[in-house]
Amino acid sequence: MDSQLSFSFELFPPRTPEGVTKLPAVIRRLAELHPDYFSITYGAGGSNQEGTYETLMTVIKQTGVEAVPHLTCVGSTRAHIACLLDRYREAGVKRVVALRGDLPATAMSPSAPGDFHYANELVSFIRETYGNAFKIDVAAYPEMHPQAPSPGVDFENFCRKVEAGADAALTQLFFNADAYFDFMERCDKAGIKIPVIPGIMPITTFDRTVRFCEGCGADLPRWVRLRLEELQDDKPALLDFGLGVVTRLCETLLRNGAPGLHFYTINQSEVVQRLWNNLALTTSCEQGH
Ligand SMILES: Cc1cc2nc3c(=O)[nH]c(=O)nc-3n(C[C@H](O)[C@H](O)[C@H](O)COP(=O)(O)OP(=O)(O)OC[C@H]3O[C@@H](n4cnc5c(N)ncnc54)[C@H](O)[C@@H]3O)c2cc1C
Repeated sequence: MDSQLSFSFELFPPRTPEGVTKLPAVIRRLAELHPDYFSITYGAGGSNQEGTYETLMTVIKQTGVEAVPHLTCVGSTRAHIACLLDRYREAGVKRVVALRGDLPATAMSPSAPGDFHYANELVSFIRETYGNAFKIDVAAYPEMHPQAPSPGVDFENFCRKVEAGADAALTQLFFNADAYFDFMERCDKAGIKIPVIPGIMPITTFDRTVRFCEGCGADLPRWVRLRLEELQDDKPALLDFGLGVVTRLCETLLRNGAPGLHFYTINQSEVVQRLWNNLALTTSCEQGH
């Protein structure tokens, strides 16, 4: 693989005793693939900040691979965010994913409690308070954030995060490579030079794939949905099919200039390992080895 490309794995803090027990082995197996970093979500699905910290420390102690916490700001105060960042800095963290996060609708109004309403404000705060102590990643939405009034307005809001000092962006999951290429064209026209890394969701079940896509407004192509529905009771066949779809997506993205891939691992190593093997094979074939 091209060493300039960025490959990263996203984990979430486990929420069940079984998940806690399994996680160290998942991290160990994924670390064997030598990613550039592991990122660890915060708040998504009800996890708390302590869970993010514990998972972060497991990654650091067990693997030595860079660990990158996600940080959400809506409803939070500057003092609280500074407290978290100080703790992360003490743990050796040099990079964070800065997000608004999701809270109930009432928390989104300008009069809502907390010092932040949008991710660009969090990026500005980190830059003003910590200078360049942290590399900052932000979220990007090739198919538009579901609450945005239009793609154009959403893109302007993405630009605000870049102007505030983001170093890189990770995209929401998508299955249409063209949505990513269209987003990159818009970045190009707007003079945005930061790497925008595609977020890749492996397909492991019909229900989960549909749920994730509906939750974040990603388009699941009709033919993929129909095939997954048909195969939902045949797990090996569904995994093979899903792997084919996602492998082709990754190949198309990399072949057309994507600067890396960020895998939403959903704390599962096997499907990510298979995807990784497929991609490494393709890359070495292309290079004529
Ligand atoms: C890679 C990735 C990782 C994620 N990790 C987590 C996680 O760990 N925990 C979690 O809870 N969620 C996570 N999310 C989900 C994310 O929190 C939600 O998508 C959230 O609704 C938006 O966060 P954001 O940082 O993109 O917000 P923003 O960039 O603030 O955008 C949110 C909405 O507000 C609009 N907007 C932005 N700025 C302004 C402005 N200045 N004025 C007016 N409107 C504005 C945008 O158009 C958009 O509709 C992740 C998403 C991605 C893509």
